[in-house]
Parts: sequence; structure tokens; C-alpha cells
Amino acid sequence: MCNGILPSLAIVVPCYNEEEIFPICLESLSKILIDLISQYKINKNSYILFVDDGSSDLTWSLIKKAVEKGDKVKGIKLSKNQGHQIALLAGLSFINTDISISIDADLQDDINAIYKMIEEYYIGNDIVYGVRSDRSSDSRFKRITANSYYKFMSIMGVYQVENHADFRLLSNRANKSLLKYNESNIYIRGIIPLLGYRSSKVFYSRKKRVAGQSKYPIKKMLSLAVEGITSFSIMPLRIISVLGFITCLSAILISLYALIQKFEGHVIEGWASIMISIFFLGGIQLISIGVIGEYIGKMYLESKKRPKYFIEEEC
Ligand code: UDP
Ligand code: MG
Repeated sequence: MCNGILPSLAIVVPCYNEEEIFPICLESLSKILIDLISQYKINKNSYILFVDDGSSDLTWSLIKKAVEKGDKVKGIKLSKNQGHQIALLAGLSFINTDISISIDADLQDDINAIYKMIEEYYIGNDIVYGVRSDRSSDSRFKRITANSYYKFMSIMGVYQVENHADFRLLSNRANKSLLKYNESNIYIRGIIPLLGYRSSKVFYSRKKRVAGQSKYPIKKMLSLAVEGITSFSIMPLRIISVLGFITCLSAILISLYALIQKFEGHVIEGWASIMISIFFLGGIQLISIGVIGEYIGKMYLESKKRPKYFIEEEC
């Protein structure tokens, strides 16, 4: 709270084909918003912003209906599906409130944690991370992949808050700082810890999706992981150099061994060793080219400075 004036809040919800869940999401979030207003935690200009990420179902018409009915709802529609990160960014760029809270439409994150987030804001935190204290509602596969992902990311030198997705509170200045990161390949979760400011965590247990299917199939999950690593770390490039060095060193040692064998008069059967080295080196080279290609591709995309999204409609 600044100078005794209540802050305004925008809850930003990216939605992609969420027609099944939308009514429940709208109702639950509206309740929280009204509750917070009546408790004098936030002011009356607070609202929920739904970002339709180019849905092909009825999501956008449901958002429009909700806007017509209530004054605490706004909506923007992106011109095509851009993915969760960009949809969220579009929402965060659109709002101009003292606080923003981003949350998924599927209500897997406990919306009651919003109260605690606001408390944390009041005691001076600019960033409040929503952190899942247990993932028992996720499938075994999702849990294992998520855990290995965090481990792998930290080995690769990318710091991010463990078990935190994109359920978080940002103050206006933290939000503005985030928007200054103008990169095309944006990985919001990795950037937030780089912003600095005072931050804290709020723990909650993650629930199952209320309805509908996960919009993050394995392909999107993998691409988010590659995005995360290559946007924040040059460790893969370093690993290539180390691999190359080790391979060269072993090649020298093997040649020495072969020479010694020859002087001692042993006949060396060369076929197997030659084939193995060709395949081994060929493999390493291909992987290395692939990794380098990934970074060059990234530079190519960044250098074009293409716009990330277009807003087709607003309501
Ligand atoms: N989402 C989006 N664009 C996409 C994919 C997902 O805006 O291309 C939204 C989706 O509607 C949801 C949130 O991002 O509000 C998280 O997606 P989901 O729940 O499917 O991911 P999961 O929880 O399975 O990781
Ligand atoms: Mg989900």
C-alpha cells in the first residue's frame, strides 16, 4: 500500500482452448477478487484479464460474454496461438495496475494462495512465487520429467525457483522490469530471478485439472526445456569443447598404444577400431553441430527482432 491508497490488482490468465474450464475459472477468480476488494486489500479498479491465445473453440466468445456481464473482467485475443509464455507476456504488457498475479486457467494452482501473495506484497515483496509443496496430483510421468528437468537445468547453470510455474505476483515495477527484457525467445521463469527486488514464496498443493486436457503435450514441454536452457546458458557449447578435447586426447593415447603394439610385433586388427572411431567421432560431431545450430538459430531469430504477438481484439 502506498501512502494509504489501496493498490489495484490485475489477475492475468492465459487461455488456450479452455471453454470447458472457463466458467469455473471465471466464477472462482471473481469471488476472490470481490472478496479482496471487500476486505480493502485492493481497490475497485482491479480486474481479471483473460488472454485468449488464439483458441479454436468457444473460449473467446465466453470471454466476451463475461466482459459484457461484469465490470471486473477484461479480455484480449491474440491473432494466433503463440504459446503460454508469449500469451502471458501479452497480458502483462497490456495491464497497468499496481500488482499483477498470473495464473493458469485450469485452476491447478490453489487460488486461495492469492490472499497470502497479497499479504506478502503488503510486507514489501515485489515478487511472490507460488510454489507447489507437493505434486501428488500430477501424473508419475509429469513428476519424474519435472524433477529431472529442474536437476538438469541447475547443472546447466540456469537458476529457477524449483516447483514454481507461472503462478506469481509481480509489483508494477517488477512487471515493468520484466518487460524490458526484449528477447524474442522469452522464458519468463528464468528471467524473474534475474530482476532482483525483494521476493518471497507462498506454498500450496497443486490440484488436478478441473476439466479439459493439458495443453502442454510432451512436444511443448521439450521445447520449453530447450528454450529454457539455450536462452540462459552456454553450458552445452562448453560441454562440446570438453568432449572434443577428451576425444582428441583419447585418439592420441590410442595411436600411441597402436604404435607400441606395432613395434612389439603384434598384428592389430584394425577394422573394428576404425569403424568405432568413425562412428563415435561422427556422432559427437553431429550432436555438436546440432547444439551450435540451436544457438545460431536463436541468434538469427533474435536479430530479426520480430514482434512476438498481435492483439486481434480487445474487450
Ligand atoms: N496455454 C496457452 N497457450 C498454449 C498452451 C497453454 O495460453 O499454447 C495456457 C493454458 O490455457 C493454461 C496454461 O497455459 O491456462 C497452462 O497450460 P496447461 O494447464 O495445459 O499446462 P500444464 O499445467 O499441463 O503444464
Ligand atoms: Mg495445467
